[in-house]
Amino acid sequence: MNPNFLQTPLPYLKGIGPNRADTLKVELGLETFRDLLHLFPNRYLDKTQYYKISQLHPSGADVQIVGKIVHLKIVEQKRGKRLVARFVDETGEMELVWFRGHKWIKEQLKLNEPYVVFGRINRYGSIFSMAHPEMELLREHQKGLKIAMQPIYPSTEKLSAKGITNRVISKMVQQLLIESKGLFPESLSPSIMEELRLMPKSEALLNIHFPKSQELLAKAQFRLKFEELFYVQLQLISKKLVRRQKIKGLSFETVGENFNAFFSDHLPFELTNAQKKVIKEIRNDLGSNAQMNRLLQGDVGSGKTIVALMVMLMASDNGYQSCIMAPTEILAQQHYNGLKELLGQMDIKIALLTGSTKKSERTLLHNQLENGNLNILVGTHAVLEDKVRFKNLGLAIIDEQHRFGVAQRSKLWHKNETPPHILVMTATPIPRTLAMSLYGDLDVSVIDELPPGRKPIKTVHRFDTNRLKVFRFIKDEIKKGRQIYMVYPLIQESEALDYKDLMDGYESITRDFPMPEYQVSIVHGKMKPADKDYEMERFVKGETQIMVATTVIEVGVNVPNASVMIIESAERFGLSQLHQLRGRVGRGAEQSFCILMTGNKLSEDSKTRLQTMTRTNDGFEIAEVDLKLRGPGDLMGTQQSGLLNLKIADIVKDNQILQTARYHAIQLLKDDPRLEKPENAPIRNAYNSIAMGREIWGYIS
Ligand code: ADP
Ligand code: MG
Repeated sequence: MNPNFLQTPLPYLKGIGPNRADTLKVELGLETFRDLLHLFPNRYLDKTQYYKISQLHPSGADVQIVGKIVHLKIVEQKRGKRLVARFVDETGEMELVWFRGHKWIKEQLKLNEPYVVFGRINRYGSIFSMAHPEMELLREHQKGLKIAMQPIYPSTEKLSAKGITNRVISKMVQQLLIESKGLFPESLSPSIMEELRLMPKSEALLNIHFPKSQELLAKAQFRLKFEELFYVQLQLISKKLVRRQKIKGLSFETVGENFNAFFSDHLPFELTNAQKKVIKEIRNDLGSNAQMNRLLQGDVGSGKTIVALMVMLMASDNGYQSCIMAPTEILAQQHYNGLKELLGQMDIKIALLTGSTKKSERTLLHNQLENGNLNILVGTHAVLEDKVRFKNLGLAIIDEQHRFGVAQRSKLWHKNETPPHILVMTATPIPRTLAMSLYGDLDVSVIDELPPGRKPIKTVHRFDTNRLKVFRFIKDEIKKGRQIYMVYPLIQESEALDYKDLMDGYESITRDFPMPEYQVSIVHGKMKPADKDYEMERFVKGETQIMVATTVIEVGVNVPNASVMIIESAERFGLSQLHQLRGRVGRGAEQSFCILMTGNKLSEDSKTRLQTMTRTNDGFEIAEVDLKLRGPGDLMGTQQSGLLNLKIADIVKDNQILQTARYHAIQLLKDDPRLEKPENAPIRNAYNSIAMGREIWGYIS
C-alpha cells in the first residue's frame, strides 16, 4: 500500500462529495481515509439469531424476532400520539411502537402475517416493547441475502437528516476497503502477534467493520483494543524512562539526626504499616539519582501529614529546604499549626507564607529562605511567586493536588538549579487501574489503611419528607456539644437557582435553630475571601454550631468536633464529591454521621450512588463504582489524558487487556529500549507516525 494512502482526504473516496465530506468532518471529525477506517461500529446487529418473546430480557439489546401483528391502535397521550401494535409469537406477546409516521406505517403493515422484526428491546412494567423496529415479511426475509452481522456506526441527528444514514456510512467503509484492497501495514511485532495469537491488522480491520461471525468479531476487537492500549502504555512508559534518565535529581543519601530523633522521641503514635511502606518508597526515590515525581494517595484521615513531615525531615538531614503547599489559606494555616505541634521542641525552623502575610514579615521570610535559615516553608500559591527564592529547595510537597495544575507543578521545578523532588498528595482516590494509565509521569504510592481505632462514619439516606426527624437529631447532637455541616450543591449551569436554594436553606435553618441558642455560619463562593475566612474561623473555633455551605468546604478542613455532615440534594452530587464531603467528619473521638438528603424521585444512577455511600467508607471501592458509572472521561484529572480519546478500548471493561498491554510494553522497552531490532520495525513505524502529530490515536496531548 502507498504509505500516504491513509492520509488521503475523504472527498477522494468514491461516493463522498465535498458536501458529505463537510458534514462528516463537522459531525464526526472525519477528514481522511484513516479517520473513516477507524470509525468503529458501536454495535452490531446479529442477524444469525432469532429470539422468542419468552427469552427476552430487559438488557436493551438488539434482537430479531419472528411473529405476527394481531392488533393495531393509535394511543393518544399528552405528549402526542403513538401507534402501538400487539405482536405475538407462540411463546408470548409484546408491543411494537411508532412515534412518527403513523399513517404511512399503518397502511403498510399487514395483520396476522409472519414478520421478522428487528430492534432494541425495552421493558415498561411487565411488557416488552420495541420502538421503530426494522420490519420485513418473513417470506421476503427468507429470500434475501444474509449478512451475519450488520455494523451500526456512531451517528448524529444532522447526519441522518442529511441522508448520511448507517447504510451510507457502511457503503463508504466498504468502498474504502475495496480501494485499499483490504491490505494494511502490520503495526505489531511478530513475537507479540504470536505470543498473544493476535489477528493480523488487515484481517482485524476487515472484521471490525464486517464481521463474518461473533467469533471473528471478538478476535478483531481484542486485537484492536490491545493495539490501542499497547501504544498508550508504550508512550507513557517511555516518557517515564526518559524522565528517569534525563532528569538528574538531588541524592538524599543519609537518613540523619532529625529524622531519627523525630522517629524515636516525637512520634505521637505508631505509624500504620501503610505509612511505613510509603515512607520507604519515598526514601528509595530520594536516595536514587533521579528526581522524584510521586503521587501519594490516601483517603481522608489516612495520615498523609505525618508522612509529609518525615519526608521533609529527610530533606533537612541532607541539608535541603522543603516546602509544602495547600490550596487555601485555612488549610495552609492548619498544616502549619499541625506540623509545628508535631515538631515540638525540635530544632527545625518552620514558617507560614500566604496571601495575607504582612509585608514586613514577608521581607523577613524572603531573607531567611535565601540565606537558608528556614527549613520548612508552609504556604499557599503565594509560594510559587518568583520573588520567593530558596537557598536550596530540595523537596516540594503539594497537598490536595486537584487544585493545582500541571503548570504550577512545573513552576516548582525551577525553584532550584537541580529540580527539587516533588510529592503530590491527594485524598481523591483514583482506582488503581486508572492511576496506572493516567499518571505516566508520576509514580504512585498508596496509603490504603486508616489509623487504628477510628469509628467508621455511619451513613444514612433520608428523604426530604423526614426533615423534621433529622432536625431533631441535629439538636440532640448539638446538645452533646457537637457541630454540624450542612452542604448544598452548586452546579455551574444552575448557579442562580442553587444560590437561591442555599439562601432558602439558610433562612429555614435560622428559623428552626434560632439565636441565641444556636449560631449558624454560612460560607459560599460569592463571598469575599476575607468574609469566608472569618465565618470559617468562627466554626473552627466552635463559636458557631452549624455551618451552612456550598462545596467550598470540600477540601481538607479539619474540625474534629464536627460530627454530622448533612448533604442536601445528595442525588445531585457525584460519588467522589460525596465521599470527600463525608470525610469532613469522623475526625474526632466521637461517633460521626453522614446524612444524605434527597427528594423522592431518584434515577438508577443516583440510587447506586446513595447505596454505595451507605454501604462502604472505602474510598477506593467508591472510586471504582464511580469509574464504572461515569466512565473515565469525567473523572477528575483525566481531562488531559488520552484515555478520553480511546476509540475502541474501555479501560474499565477492558482492564484485563490493559494489564496485558502494559506488560508487553514494559517487556518490549526492556528488551529493545530504542526499538532498533528489525523485528520491532512495525512498532517503530507505528510509534513514529503517532509521534508525528495528530494521528491514528488522537491521544497525544
Ligand atoms: P489526611 O491524610 O487526611 O491528611 P491527616 O494527616 O490529617 O490525614 O491525619 C488525620 C488524623 O489522624 C490526624 O489527627 C493525625 O494525627 C492522625 N494520625 C495519623 N497517622 C496516625 C497513626 N498512625 N495512628 C494514629 N493516628 C494517626
Ligand atoms: Mg490532609
